[in-house]
Amino acid sequence: MGLDDIRGRIAKAEADAGRATGSTTLIAVSKVQPLERVEAVLDAGHRVFGENRVQEAQGKWPAFRERFGGLELHLIGPLQTNKARVAIDLFDVIHTLDRPKLANTLARLAQETGHCPPLFIQVNTGEEPQKAGILPRDADAFIAEARALDLPVEGLMCIPPVEEEPSLHFALLAKIAERNGLDGLSMGMSSDFERAIAQGATHIRVGSAIFGPRDYG
Ligand SMILES: *Cc1c(COP(=O)(O)O)cnc(C)c1O
Repeated sequence: MGLDDIRGRIAKAEADAGRATGSTTLIAVSKVQPLERVEAVLDAGHRVFGENRVQEAQGKWPAFRERFGGLELHLIGPLQTNKARVAIDLFDVIHTLDRPKLANTLARLAQETGHCPPLFIQVNTGEEPQKAGILPRDADAFIAEARALDLPVEGLMCIPPVEEEPSLHFALLAKIAERNGLDGLSMGMSSDFERAIAQGATHIRVGSAIFGPRDYG
């Protein structure tokens, strides 16, 4: 389990960037991982986790919540509108608000239930057709739209294209967030979280570097 190693690397990256120690939230991405590995990280005292599928999280986390206090669960994968009701009860933060239809659904549910978790808006910084997210040129308008619906928008999230230098995408995301007065930046994964911290990430999403490779077999 690589948790201690990652914590050390985060502290170093924060120091190198002149940032306060502990200013980055580490989301341990536990999707697909065997329960024993997740349990080992829980036993080590970590409490912030990320899952990319509602159904998978539903099967795993209610039982962990009964055994471990203070858990914070983040949804980092695409959210279908028909799963939004389940998601707002299961997750403490949703990183993947990526389209007007979902914004409208979440706003309606917030009215009905009186609650909505903090949200990050996913921006498709690489403008990749297969990837979810608001295009950079539409981001300002969409942020305004979500705010007009009274949604609790905390920040922005991106997943850079695999073949490109992620720092450019992190910088773009940070720029869009800044001009819209948003503090949260969900960016950086196992291979690039130090570069994300250098660009101001407040939340990094690290899976395989903590748990080991995912076995999709
Ligand atoms: C799986 C996943 C991660 C973690 O990826 P690693 O490379 O294992 O760190 C981060 N963000 C999202 C959106 C993911 O789906």
